[in-house]
Amino acid sequence: MANPSNGRVALVTGASRGIGRAIALGLAEEGYDVVINDIERQSVQLDGVAGEIRAKGRKAWPVFADVSSKAEVEAMVAKALAEAVKIDAVVNNAGILIAKPVDTLEEREWDAVLDVNAKGTFLVIQALLPHFKARKYGRIVNIASIGGKHGAPEQAHYSASKAAVMGFTRVLAQEVGPFGITANCICPGIIVTDMGRTNLEVKEIADRWIANTALARLGQPEDVAGPVCFFASDASAFVTGQTLNVCGGIVLT
Ligand code: NAP
Repeated sequence: MANPSNGRVALVTGASRGIGRAIALGLAEEGYDVVINDIERQSVQLDGVAGEIRAKGRKAWPVFADVSSKAEVEAMVAKALAEAVKIDAVVNNAGILIAKPVDTLEEREWDAVLDVNAKGTFLVIQALLPHFKARKYGRIVNIASIGGKHGAPEQAHYSASKAAVMGFTRVLAQEVGPFGITANCICPGIIVTDMGRTNLEVKEIADRWIANTALARLGQPEDVAGPVCFFASDASAFVTGQTLNVCGGIVLT
């Protein structure tokens, strides 16, 4: 049965697979029409996600951009607004992980991870802010990671990028609050995706993660969608500058 519209439009980056795909589908379930972004090399998969959203009775607009490119992000936001007319909520989900210890980490690898995870989040927000401010409305959800709080060996640059996303979001919330815009972060734990499998390649390590998780299981991409929908909705209208762990209880604060 078609999901009724809630009159809102969301933009999700890195939506062709993994957590981004689950978030896009979760938002469609809640009645959002969804602009879905990924890099152009993912066009077939992104079209597949668009089909899944339309099968739920909601509109979907695939838009390509490498979020680390200011020119591509600006073109993407212009195209998204031309097609969808407005955007109410944005989910900065696109991210990469290159596992490598600090002593052999190359400068270009540090730059690549920081450029996509941290700068990409900034660029998408900067391109959207005029629209949000003009409408005096916006819901910003940035996907960080519990790795940005504690981290794991071979992920120093990834941890730095996600800590940057959290710091950026706290200040952003203060700057945009007077315009009726909220900005919050989600920190997923160990989620079974192509990226998450980086932490799960060795069985003993996967078992240790499960043992260290209060809910005694790994996360699925769909586990992240509900909390994102909360931050994207008006149920969270008085919540901003916050960071929520969605990790099954690995981090208990
Ligand atoms: P994933 O399976 O690797 O999917 C990431 C998606 O982002 C891919 O479709 C990827 O496209 C896209 N992407 C990468 N670089 C991009 C760019 N420059 N511009 C636009 N799209 C880009 O990862 P995931 O596990 O779903 O992770 C999603 C988010 O959750 C990331 O921010 C990640 O850091 C965060 N997170 C994940 C976990 C976990 O355990 N999985 C835990 C904590 C946080 P390509 O396939 O073409 O590269």
